[in-house]
Amino acid sequence: MEKSVLGIFAHPDDAEILCAGTLSLLRKAGWSVHIATVAMGDKGTATHTRDDIIRIRNAEAIKAATEIGATYHCLDIDDVYVLYNRESINKATALVRKVRPGIVFTMSPTDYMLDHEISSQIAQTACFAAGIKNMEVDEEVYEYIPSLYYCDPIEGTDRFGNLILPSVYVDISDEIEMKAKMLACHESQQSWLKSHHDSEYIQAMRRFSEQRGKDINKAYAEGFRQHLGHGYPHDNILKEILGDLVVTM
Ligand SMILES: [Zn+2]
Repeated sequence: MEKSVLGIFAHPDDAEILCAGTLSLLRKAGWSVHIATVAMGDKGTATHTRDDIIRIRNAEAIKAATEIGATYHCLDIDDVYVLYNRESINKATALVRKVRPGIVFTMSPTDYMLDHEISSQIAQTACFAAGIKNMEVDEEVYEYIPSLYYCDPIEGTDRFGNLILPSVYVDISDEIEMKAKMLACHESQQSWLKSHHDSEYIQAMRRFSEQRGKDINKAYAEGFRQHLGHGYPHDNILKEILGDLVVTM
């Protein structure tokens, strides 16, 4: 296991909305940070051509990652067509083998849209499959199952509006401005989200981080649930690294 952390998200900007504060803290703690998206963000526009928006969003994701010295990877799947299939599983498994992370973050298994939920499943399998010799993947086998954490769903609810409560909170009060700066790199999304479903991007992120902060009497926080199923590490490595900044419920 190396001191590297890999986030496997659905779209460019999901990392910045849900996890960037914690990634920034891990970077400061000496971990190398890798931000990946399963999809390219090719549907996130009402004006650009597909090729243009792919190029724009790739540049935005790289710019955001660079703010904390992170590396951006894309599995090059189309938005809305994120499928749990051979192609996506093999690509994600190859990435886990390449990065060899000690920690993986991914989307909530239950969320408002299927791209998020399927990306979560793909990441879960990739963590396990990276150590399986006969996978259809060229990269060297990685015989370590990383600690896997699921981020909050968008707005903290499942598809029925039920609250999903985190079991692990990270105090990101000192990182909120960095988080906002990273999210602001996704310039193309601010106008598109406003026109498509009237979402004010950065304010919404601040509000939700503030809400999570209130849960633990801090200014801002991010919430996670750890994968504690068979075979995955059960110790809370985030607590070991970040100490008092991590509050468990
Ligand atoms: Zn998304």
